[in-house]
Amino acid sequence: MLNSNQVKEMLIDIADMYIEKKEELSKYDAVIGDGDHGITMARGAKAAKEKLINTEEGTCRDYFKLYGRTLVSTIGGAMGPLFGSIFLELSKACKGNETFGINELSIGISEAEKKVCDLGGAKVGDKTMVDALHPTAEALMEAKKNEDDLQKALKKAVEAAKLGVQSTIPLVAKRGRSKYLQEKAIGHQDAGATSIYYLIKEIDRYLGN
Ligand code: ADP
Ligand code: MG
Ligand code: MG
Repeated sequence: MLNSNQVKEMLIDIADMYIEKKEELSKYDAVIGDGDHGITMARGAKAAKEKLINTEEGTCRDYFKLYGRTLVSTIGGAMGPLFGSIFLELSKACKGNETFGINELSIGISEAEKKVCDLGGAKVGDKTMVDALHPTAEALMEAKKNEDDLQKALKKAVEAAKLGVQSTIPLVAKRGRSKYLQEKAIGHQDAGATSIYYLIKEIDRYLGN
């Protein structure tokens, strides 16, 4: 379980991770997209980090909401709401609670998957971030059912997200810019799915796994 200060600290670590992975994430997007995914995520992360640092008091809900809203406003377009919704749904899942644990994480990620699918129309197998979000949500829900603690649940979630990213490699894209490449996208991992994997991995790292 994390308290609100820990959630704030973790979100700053997540922002630093996206800033650090800027080039790597753009490299994946350059092969099957337009090469800006890392730049986009880093721009949103930098703005969110600044706002978090300047916020003195907040609940878990407030901090996730701040990150999500900042992604929506700084990334903009279609991708702002898609990536922002992950954090906005995590925020909603914290409603009424002073702490962030397996319940909030599993519900937040499951709701985020639904939201992303609703907004973007993608399904599993379309070679998008949904391919990482879906197995992650499933692993977390399963862990919640088994009453695993946050640490144990995240270990499984990281593994599931990693497999999700790998599952995008042989696919032809049905959504986003990569779909115009048709078969040429085969053999390359999806950038957005990789971003989701790194997010889960960073949460896991924060918890000291
Ligand atoms: P853009 O394609 O506008 O340049 P980014 O490069 O930031 O945006 O993000 C690209 C990623 O967004 C893709 O790798 C994919 O995972 C994800 N994506 C694209 N379209 C969709 C969609 N309709 N639903 C969900 N995710 C999508
Ligand atoms: Mg792009
Ligand atoms: Mg672009």
